[in-house]
Amino acid sequence: MNPYAGVVSSLRTAWLAGKTRGAEHRVSQLEALGRFLEEQRGPILEAMASDMRKPPLEAELSEILLVRNEVTHALNSLSSWMKDEFVEKNLVTQLDEAFIRKEPYGVVLIIGPWNYPLHLILVPLVGAIAAGNCVLVKPSEISRGTEKLVAETLPGYLDKDCFAVVTGGPAETTQLLENKFDFIFFTGSAQVGRGVMAAAAQHLTPLALELGGKNPCYVAEDSELESAAARLVWGRCFNAGQTCVAPDYVLCSPATQEKLLPALGRAIARFFGPEPRESPDLARMVSDRHFQRVRALLGSGHVALGGQTDEAERYIAPTVLADVQPSQPAMQEEIFGPVLPIVTVPGVDDAIAFINSRERPLAVYVFASDSKVVQRVLERTSSGGFGANDTLMQMTLLSLPFGGIGSSGLGSYHGRFSFDTFSHRRACLLRRPGLEALNSMRYPPYSERKMGLLASVSQVKRKGGCSLQ
Ligand code: NAD
Repeated sequence: MNPYAGVVSSLRTAWLAGKTRGAEHRVSQLEALGRFLEEQRGPILEAMASDMRKPPLEAELSEILLVRNEVTHALNSLSSWMKDEFVEKNLVTQLDEAFIRKEPYGVVLIIGPWNYPLHLILVPLVGAIAAGNCVLVKPSEISRGTEKLVAETLPGYLDKDCFAVVTGGPAETTQLLENKFDFIFFTGSAQVGRGVMAAAAQHLTPLALELGGKNPCYVAEDSELESAAARLVWGRCFNAGQTCVAPDYVLCSPATQEKLLPALGRAIARFFGPEPRESPDLARMVSDRHFQRVRALLGSGHVALGGQTDEAERYIAPTVLADVQPSQPAMQEEIFGPVLPIVTVPGVDDAIAFINSRERPLAVYVFASDSKVVQRVLERTSSGGFGANDTLMQMTLLSLPFGGIGSSGLGSYHGRFSFDTFSHRRACLLRRPGLEALNSMRYPPYSERKMGLLASVSQVKRKGGCSLQ
């Protein structure tokens, strides 16, 4: 017997009873999620501090404020999101109702990673609740403090018939995935994502995969280097670089590298002081394994700035590696630490070719004063999201979809996009029983005349003057 069969089956019972379908239930659960964020604020900040010494401002912003915004936005928009969407009809169906009903999938599984351990389970949860699903949440076992907090306190706020939390690592998650869900929302690495997709395929379960990768950042010669450096260091060092949309590496010309390095040094000193280890505003690597993995990347290129580490504290200084070769370890895997390699390229077209020779990333960034350079990178590359003259900020807008493409993921969420991701678009046509004479043209026995009539009432006409004939 699968150890999770019981919890999945009781969620399915609640789903089939229709408990989560009504707007009132959705509103009450979203409001309860808002109360969880408010009442558990202190324990949330403590859990973030114990997991990776996340600075309180970073935790408050990324794990509480952005989630609360999603809750409020969903509450403000729910009634319009839930409305049936009436669609255009053809001549045959003029007297009927044709609409898209936004239906919940049913029983949904949300699997989270450790880097934003609350945000990355609660933001999908907002969408899943708003769309009317029953949900099983599986936080990461690596961010232990948050996992404990979520398992012990979150169920107390939500309707226990419809929402549950389970804990565990790879072995437990593998068993969990043997169960049939109606939708799976996974955030984590591409490697584990492949396994989740294979498990989902056994039940033909649709899914969203929010994965990672290496996000390039092209810095043009004409960019405002002081602000570019500040925005790069902030994006790279927020949560000690353990951010899926962080700029992973810089592409620029050798001349730009020479000018950018001192600007990066000034930004690091301004943010973290002369001894960044003493700064309360720099988080730590989440585990010894992650510390060792990131430290091993420091041998790529040469250390131009930073480079200090302390294993006991899992501390890695904000570090810039210059003249890194594409074949070196820092360019072979997602860095996920406060380390920024610079790879030099002659110009923007070489940067574009470099980006396009690799897997499609979650984000492409460009710093340039010339908007033509920005447009060129935007038009000639492909990625989940795009940011010009800044980093990370595109993911703070509820009005933009957040997600990857290719190996950086499948599907998107945030704001309205979360509701859509967790909803099935059911195609509905409600016809009238009468007017049978009008319908007889599609019944056998068939004839040329009937075909002509059918074509004239149902054919889509090309708009505008141009005709294919
Ligand atoms: P991970 O893939 O190791 O783990 C994610 C989840 O999967 C965890 O809950 C874990 O318990 C579970 N898991 C781990 N191994 C498993 C296995 N073999 N079988 C089944 N389940 C398993 O990812 P992580 O280390 O927690 O997170 C870091 C990765 O997530 C990075 O690649 C990062 O870029 C990516 N990420 C992506 C986003 C995004 O929104 N696109 C956000 C944050 C992190």
